[in-house]
Amino acid sequence: GSGSSIGYGRSSVNMGGKVPLGLKRKSLRVLVTGGAGFVGSHLVDRLISRGDSVIVVDNFFTGRKENVLHHFGNPRFELIRHDVVEPILLEVDQIYHLACPASPVHYKFNPVKTIKTNVVGTLNMLGLAKRVGARFLLTSTSEVYGDPLQHPQAETYWGNVNPIGVRSCYDEGKRTAETLTMDYHRGLGIEVRIARIFNTYGPRMCIDDGRVVSNFVAQALRKEPLTVYGDGKQTRSFQYVSDLVEGLMRLMEGEHVGPFNLGNPGEFTMLELAQVVQETIDPNAKIEFRPNTEDDPHKRKPDISKAKELLSWEPSVSLRNGLPLMVSDFRSRIFGDQRDGGG
Ligand code: NAD
Ligand code: UDP
Ligand code: UDP
Repeated sequence: GSGSSIGYGRSSVNMGGKVPLGLKRKSLRVLVTGGAGFVGSHLVDRLISRGDSVIVVDNFFTGRKENVLHHFGNPRFELIRHDVVEPILLEVDQIYHLACPASPVHYKFNPVKTIKTNVVGTLNMLGLAKRVGARFLLTSTSEVYGDPLQHPQAETYWGNVNPIGVRSCYDEGKRTAETLTMDYHRGLGIEVRIARIFNTYGPRMCIDDGRVVSNFVAQALRKEPLTVYGDGKQTRSFQYVSDLVEGLMRLMEGEHVGPFNLGNPGEFTMLELAQVVQETIDPNAKIEFRPNTEDDPHKRKPDISKAKELLSWEPSVSLRNGLPLMVSDFRSRIFGDQRDGGG
């Protein structure tokens, strides 16, 4: 129960996330839902390396054991196969709530399940936070801005979202998750944090995830044409995963609820992205145009002034520097066996 909470619990002295000078920071018990996924597994690495005990809850819909395999055998690491749509009893100090498929291909696969994960899953994790007095961080998304009429998007913008479209299970689901988070905070005094994450890439992304960076990189490596949807003039801003993890941890440890945009403000059209991939992997890679998907946002670029000011955070890895790090991971996963065999 709440009596066993050692960290930010309502039953313990609240130090606003700060550790008094001269005292070593107490090791925390941290729950990471979706911790076997792309972002979650990188977050787990950081938490384990700073000395925390980490519980990962994941149903392996898009996550993989391989992403956290290197922690097996560590007594400070625990992996539970569990679906957040079902309640669960655990004793923790912090909850990073990431469980939810992030690629449009995956979240559209079973839209009702996506809604349940965002709404019932988030409700359960907030109920858990309430019971044990844990601090709760929601990973929301830039998709709450929909097809934005304001550019770049600041946190004050309320968004332009189609409530009955094919992306709604995800973006309306995340909007409801934000609402639940704020209502548990205002109504029940739960300590919460909200991050609105913009497109993020890096090692451990699913190779056939369907998102644009992983598609282009895998295609270029396999000598297949890069598939540009629509006219390729739509824009996105691509953040390297280590920058995101740093932002999430600063947000959790800081004093501000948010929401905070966490993204890299560098803006690229899909054609420009294809060009960077060509320069990085294969200048001869061909481009093939395909019809675009429904309700595809035309522009996206974060205004990160708020995170800069209140979290002293900003991304440090540019697309041109981050892409090669992802390419070497994809290369070894796509060609790994042959290379190992061939020496
Ligand atoms: P991911 O698909 O790699 O990871 C999601 C993880 O959640 C997977 O391990 C999956 O198995 C797990 N999961 C899904 N449904 C679950 C359920 N019902 N119960 C338990 N586990 C479940 O995606 P990611 O890119 O790592 O995204 C992590 C979080 O960040 C998501 O909440 C996503 O919405 C958010 N986000 C990511 C991006 C991005 O560009 N990567 C952008 C915006 C928001
Ligand atoms: N819940 C959970 N683990 C807990 C506490 C609660 O999974 O440790 C779930 C609980 O089953 C419920 C949801 O979280 O479905 C919301 O819990 P809360 O206590 O806020 O609401 P109530 O159970 O009173 O409806
Ligand atoms: N896209 C593309 N080729 C692909 C995959 C995606 O041109 O192989 C485009 C897609 O139409 C969108 C942008 O890339 O305009 C980003 O799509 P993604 O699925 O990565 O993420 P989103 O930001 O839409 O959630």
